[in-house]
Amino acid sequence: MGGLGLSSSASGSTVDYEALRARIGQVTGRLRCSVEQLLSSQGVRTVLGEATFAGPHELSVKVPGDREVLHFDAAVVCTGSRPRIPEWAAPDGERVLTTRQAYPPPQLPEHLVVVGSGVTGVEFVHMFGSLGSQVSLIVSRQHVLPHKDPEVAAALEEELLRRGVALYKGARAAAIDRTGTGVVVHCDDGRSVAASHALLAVGSVPNSDHLGLELAGVKVDNWGYVPINHHCQTNIGHIYAAGDVSGKLPLSSVASMQGRKAAEHIMGLHTREHRHIDYDKAASAIFTEPEIADVGLAEAEAFATGRKIRVTKVPFGASARALINDDPRGFVKILSDPATGVVLGGSIVGDRASELISVIALAVTAGLKVPDLVESCLVHPSLAEAIADAAE
Ligand SMILES: Cc1cc2nc3c(=O)[nH]c(=O)nc-3n(C[C@H](O)[C@H](O)[C@H](O)COP(=O)(O)OP(=O)(O)OC[C@H]3O[C@@H](n4cnc5c(N)ncnc54)[C@H](O)[C@@H]3O)c2cc1C
Repeated sequence: MGGLGLSSSASGSTVDYEALRARIGQVTGRLRCSVEQLLSSQGVRTVLGEATFAGPHELSVKVPGDREVLHFDAAVVCTGSRPRIPEWAAPDGERVLTTRQAYPPPQLPEHLVVVGSGVTGVEFVHMFGSLGSQVSLIVSRQHVLPHKDPEVAAALEEELLRRGVALYKGARAAAIDRTGTGVVVHCDDGRSVAASHALLAVGSVPNSDHLGLELAGVKVDNWGYVPINHHCQTNIGHIYAAGDVSGKLPLSSVASMQGRKAAEHIMGLHTREHRHIDYDKAASAIFTEPEIADVGLAEAEAFATGRKIRVTKVPFGASARALINDDPRGFVKILSDPATGVVLGGSIVGDRASELISVIALAVTAGLKVPDLVESCLVHPSLAEAIADAAE
């Protein structure tokens, strides 16, 4: 595991932080290179620069030392989003970091205080905690992951506490001071946390300003997102938007699916068999340990709307493979329609949850029923068996 920056010995495991940073650079470099090769093999010309619309069929691109004008029949806006910076914080890239600056920072923080306990916040808590930093987490509500299944959030909280993460619940960060040796985060309930570094994980804002969208006639909503229809068209038919800037679901998988749908529509391929993206059926994962993943309808959502559902659940403690792997943490939960048996959603907490959720995602997307899952003869021993058991 030397290439990963990890080494184990009889006295335990150690992390070589510089080797780990180098490895991150290598992996992202290889990915970038293969995408560039794929684009050029398809005859795509890449213009490196900052683009703004100059009109409904014209882009002006600021390239090093010059400006290039591109005329287009169709355009796709996929400028993404950037971290939201609250007015009380001033990230400096050294001690007060945004999520973009923390992956990975030049030095491993001795004590990191993370502001924000959504998906991104808890992933950073887990990452730095695993690397050996002391971690504190400011949780504005009474539990982490406010938009996830409370049972899932409780399982994660238990794990965070077991790992020694200090949780400051019901507190909102209101100011950050830089001190000689680090930072102090002040909360609105009077508590404060002194640490070596602070990380802001309080959401994102769309990159739609400074794009000259108004010159192309493209409208944005009150939050700056670019509204789109099911073909990913904006209010201007030949201009499309995809990814975070569209304000749908901030996931890479969704961004690339939207890009594909936009391309199909531009090429006229949508007239063939075509399905619109169902954002309610997009699977997502949280890369903590254990992993967390979910798809489709959530129990709380069904409860809030009064929808009748059947909820079935098994712990990984009942899975032969989980016991063999010596990791019986977590559970699989399946939601189905009690009248028809159609699988509506599911959550998994446990080892490889991000992979296993694909089985439930396929069932939800294809409208499969509980017996389809139960009667699939899966590999034994495998973690996936827990999905069939949970569905029963
Ligand atoms: C810390 C973190 C972890 C995440 N982890 C996951 C994960 O595990 N799984 C997952 O599915 N999603 C994850 N996401 C979300 C995911 O990164 C985004 O949903 C995805 O990158 C959105 O893709 P995009 O193409 O819309 O935007 P981006 O990937 O942000 O790409 C936008 C690009 O447009 C460029 N750009 C902006 N303005 C201009 C301009 N005027 N001219 C030219 N170029 C411009 C930007 O420089 C950027 O390169 C994570 C996000 C964060 C912040």
